[in-house]
Amino acid sequence: MSKQLFFNKFQEFISQYKKVVIVSHVNPDGDAIGSSLALYFFLKKFGKDVKIIIPNDFPSFLAWMPGIENILVFDKNSEKGIEYLNSAELICYLDFNHPSRTGLLHNDLCHCNKTPRLLIDHHRDTDYSQFAMYLSEFETSSTAELVAELIQYHGFDNYLDENIATCLLVGIMTDTGSFAHSIYHPETFEICGKLISTKVDYQLIHSKIYNTFSENRLRLLGFSISNRMTTLDEYHTAYIYLTKADLESFNYQVGDTEGIVNYPLMIDGIKMAVLITERQGVIRFSFRSKGDFSVHELSRAHFNGGGHTNAAGGTLECSIEEAIQKLLDVLPQYKALLNK
Ligand code: 5GP
Ligand code: MN
Repeated sequence: MSKQLFFNKFQEFISQYKKVVIVSHVNPDGDAIGSSLALYFFLKKFGKDVKIIIPNDFPSFLAWMPGIENILVFDKNSEKGIEYLNSAELICYLDFNHPSRTGLLHNDLCHCNKTPRLLIDHHRDTDYSQFAMYLSEFETSSTAELVAELIQYHGFDNYLDENIATCLLVGIMTDTGSFAHSIYHPETFEICGKLISTKVDYQLIHSKIYNTFSENRLRLLGFSISNRMTTLDEYHTAYIYLTKADLESFNYQVGDTEGIVNYPLMIDGIKMAVLITERQGVIRFSFRSKGDFSVHELSRAHFNGGGHTNAAGGTLECSIEEAIQKLLDVLPQYKALLNK
């Protein structure tokens, strides 16, 4: 379904439903929360009864966002979440494209597979047959940018307000690393210009996201780089690993490792950065790359994950030592691509 067709049909499509549930992915980031809240405010303007469910809690640097108190965190209140899902007439997937990305919510989401689904997302490898309507564009900075385009199509004059502009800016800003990457076309800046013209304080929004670290979080960043980073010049790669004990020693809070993976890319000549983190029972991988080396392909092939060309995630069920070894074992296959 083309973007234009989605926009043309959207209003008529949603007119069939009153109860709408928006769902986003596990470990929700600024784009997951920002795009979900913006769509929430937009649908409210059409008189919809809207709920948002996320599988687990959002990081504290997003806690100030407008409307955040309306989000149901499934692992804290699954009974209510199941009630919302069961009474939904339409389920919207925002910033993910497969139920496997919804953690604890996965089974309950699959149970109500008779409920029509709408997708707004910018990840690859979507099975479109699951969706009654979809806006799926992987060469777009963020899901928030797609929601912004949808609202713009219906008229910013009628529908844009400061709450929506703030949520959309958070989504676009965080998924582009403050407009440093994932910019595919000039419209990203054009649309942000229009969002800022609502008189939101862009610099304050930026500051609330990036200048609100706890001391522990900043020290964890320093420790990660000084004590836990290894560079592999042969593969133009650097990796950082963090054990559960490392995280505990810095009193880890949700979101504290966010962004750490970007730092090794600051080294001249490094094309891929990997963060390997020991979580409850699983190892989480975060991959970032510069240029056309696809961490999406790497993660999909070896780490049960995926994402985008330059940013992807994955998981393995093994020890942290085995996880590091796995990375070291697969790198030789990619030597030529990493040396391009
Ligand atoms: P992060 O490293 O920040 O967790 O994720 C980077 C990007 O990859 C995000 O766009 C995220 O949605 C996507 N991603 C993270 N983990 C996974 C995963 O396990 N599977 C897939 N398909 N995408 C992922
Ligand atoms: Mn996103």
